Amino acid sequence: MNLAGLTAHEARELLDAGEITSVELTTAVLERVSQVEDRVKAFVTVTDELAMQQAEQADARIAARDAQPLTGIPMLLKDNMVTKGVRTTCSSRMLENFIPPYDATVTGKLYEQGAVLVGKGNLDEFAMGSSNENSAFHPTRNPWALDRVPGGSSGGPAAAVAADECIFSLGSDTGGSIRQPASLCGIVGMKPTYGLVSRFGLVAFASSLDQIGPLTKDVRDCAITLSAIAGNDPSDSTSLSIDVPDYTRALTEDLSGLRIGVPSEYFGAGLEPGVESAVSAAIDVMRSLGAEVEETSLPSTPYALAVYYIIAPSEASANLARYDGVKYGFSVQDADGVWDALEKTRQHGFGPEVKRRIMLGTYALSAGYYDAYYLQAQRVRTLIRREFEQVFTRFDAVVMPTSPTVAFKLGEKTADPLQMYLNDILTIPANIAGIPGMSVPAGMSDGLPVGLQIMAPALSEETLLRIAYAYEQATDFRGKYGPPPL
Ligand code: GLN
Repeated sequence: MNLAGLTAHEARELLDAGEITSVELTTAVLERVSQVEDRVKAFVTVTDELAMQQAEQADARIAARDAQPLTGIPMLLKDNMVTKGVRTTCSSRMLENFIPPYDATVTGKLYEQGAVLVGKGNLDEFAMGSSNENSAFHPTRNPWALDRVPGGSSGGPAAAVAADECIFSLGSDTGGSIRQPASLCGIVGMKPTYGLVSRFGLVAFASSLDQIGPLTKDVRDCAITLSAIAGNDPSDSTSLSIDVPDYTRALTEDLSGLRIGVPSEYFGAGLEPGVESAVSAAIDVMRSLGAEVEETSLPSTPYALAVYYIIAPSEASANLARYDGVKYGFSVQDADGVWDALEKTRQHGFGPEVKRRIMLGTYALSAGYYDAYYLQAQRVRTLIRREFEQVFTRFDAVVMPTSPTVAFKLGEKTADPLQMYLNDILTIPANIAGIPGMSVPAGMSDGLPVGLQIMAPALSEETLLRIAYAYEQATDFRGKYGPPPL
């Protein structure tokens, strides 16, 4: 049996039935990593020793009939979630040797379940990018076509899930960084409602937009992982106080009674014909499953990208001020005094995209420009949020493509930041509005995966999962296309 190819829920059944052990499963996943990782390059760090220890502990727990849904299941965490004693780099020279003294809340929750950490996943430096090419270490490659990008910034985690180098993973999504790589790699990704999953221990990029969420092989695993990581956390002041349901209860196979809107603004210029036809076919499937589908409009959508590229860099410029070479991380040694040390540390520690964002944000926040840029962006943000609220009085969810294109070639967009930014035009609105969004595989275009995106009102993750699951069961992407031919 190909153990590395299992989903978490398939592995759970075999583990609980005593047919496999977590040690066997973890060994199989680590073997898979050693077979394909030199081509995929999804990892920053492989934690094989820790993984084997955790797998043994998990087996003891399973033997004692004390297993939870993710006990003994190998996972990868994006390398911007802190892990006590395990290097956490944000794929930046600045944190290349940073060993955190504590665990992120999500790390702790998954450890408590008994999940097994096989490594830390590559990302665009500090999660700024859409292709993984901004990693200070190496770009990750798309398992479906090794000369193409996996998307970003959670490109390492998405590629690892697609390539069976882990069973599930967590990414972070500030402007699409879970959904876009999920789409480009042919897997499931969800950005939950802002505040549903604790950000404590997620290295901050843009605090009003950042959210952690699952990257998984199928929708059931997404529901299982979300159930494990969601919930109030006193260590994160923006964390919501709600009772977390068992999200797997939302997984039903029909969509009757659901009203689904298709906002025309998401089908405009720049959308590849192959993506458009795959998504249109997906919408027909939803209709056949009983959903009432109707066209609608979110007219402020074209402003979301501009709003994002004021708000996100502004928050980033403040958040990244902490990397001063004094408290932690990289520090230049041969400096001439404090200011020289600060300047040189930031000059050598940060890559070009991070510097570009810091400069954009500092400019937007400076006296004289604040009202014209930052304040104006906040106003438009409110408009966008209200428009979603309006549309959700008539629809339970809206659907659209996740990314305007399939995976593009490595190097294709690196010379033009604006072209790169345009990749997130369809995902960013959910972050601006704080609502949940999800990407689910919707077939192929020219041999490359296409993602269908679903958005719903705040705290309607169950609606997203219900739609995604019914659609997945009806179309069976994994069954039809199998794992990528590596
Ligand atoms: N690609 C977007 C950016 O570069 C979004 C990144 C993210 O969601 N972390 O900012």
